[in-house]
Amino acid sequence: MKRIAVMTSGGDSPGMNAAIRAVVRYGIKSGLEVYGIKRGYAGLLDEDIEPMTFASVGGIMEKGGTILRTSRCPEFVRKETRAEAAKILKKHGIEGLVVIGGEGSLHGAMFLEEEQKVPVVGLPGTIDNDIAMTDMSIGVDTCLNTVVDAIQKLKDTASSHERAFIVEVMGRSSGYIATVSGLVTGAEAVIIPEVPVNYEELANKLLEERERGKINCIVVVAEGAASAYTVARHLEHRIGYETRITILGHIQRGGSPTAFDRLLASRMGVAAVDALLRGESGVMTALQGGKIVTVKLDEVLKEKKRLDMELVKLAGMLS
Ligand code: ADP
Repeated sequence: MKRIAVMTSGGDSPGMNAAIRAVVRYGIKSGLEVYGIKRGYAGLLDEDIEPMTFASVGGIMEKGGTILRTSRCPEFVRKETRAEAAKILKKHGIEGLVVIGGEGSLHGAMFLEEEQKVPVVGLPGTIDNDIAMTDMSIGVDTCLNTVVDAIQKLKDTASSHERAFIVEVMGRSSGYIATVSGLVTGAEAVIIPEVPVNYEELANKLLEERERGKINCIVVVAEGAASAYTVARHLEHRIGYETRITILGHIQRGGSPTAFDRLLASRMGVAAVDALLRGESGVMTALQGGKIVTVKLDEVLKEKKRLDMELVKLAGMLS
């Protein structure tokens, strides 16, 4: 193998740059030429491909986002489009591809390998922590820290004004961010897609807390469970005091990656290059019990990662 390429695809997540840097630098040190593909699968189809150097990835580890940029490319679900992509890779002499992205991007990578026989290694990059077979994905830790910082600030003002804050966080199908951020900020309640919510019970809990003298109240809701507006509508008339809504939105995707994400991305980037050099393909790098391993993409994508219900229990127990 002489030449490989790296791309980021789908929703961005903090730490993707550290992963790109690791792939490029370790690839070059291993005697490979490393190319960068801009804007994910869309950029691949547009042949937006350029050689990367040791210097071109200097100073990027601490930056959020992705220097290769990213995109969504709906036509990539078609087999013919993927055949076209494989042809382009071949034309550019690219013999191995590293795809950093979420579930959708990893599906694209898996099909590219299965049908077109392109050697591919995926890296899980998403803030949702919804990718199976890996304890963490690149970006989750930074996102959590951003959410915790925001909730902490809201708690200050909630205390001053004796208000309830409903904070909506990301997580269309996973309540991981809501559960963990709620747990570590001592939120009064967490509303997630995995557990049905009983507003009557929740309102009673909040009223009891207020009677006990608690002056601030934080309810964290995952976007996939309900909107913050819906939660506020259900609660306000029951609790009889003011609520305020904060939707954290896309700030959760940005920011300088934490040490944890930089380390995870660096380890996974190196592991991806090693896997390609070993002749492994159709795999994803994963963190399992502190070690970086490779797992088959088709097994990863067979199921959604399930939320650890122990965390939900813990959040409920300590609030
Ligand atoms: P993420 O990678 O963050 O989950 P998306 O779900 O938007 O983001 O997927 C990113 C891109 O991956 C899509 O725009 C498309 O190009 C490709 N993709 C997603 N799902 C599939 C699929 N089932 N088959 C092939 N390619 C896919």
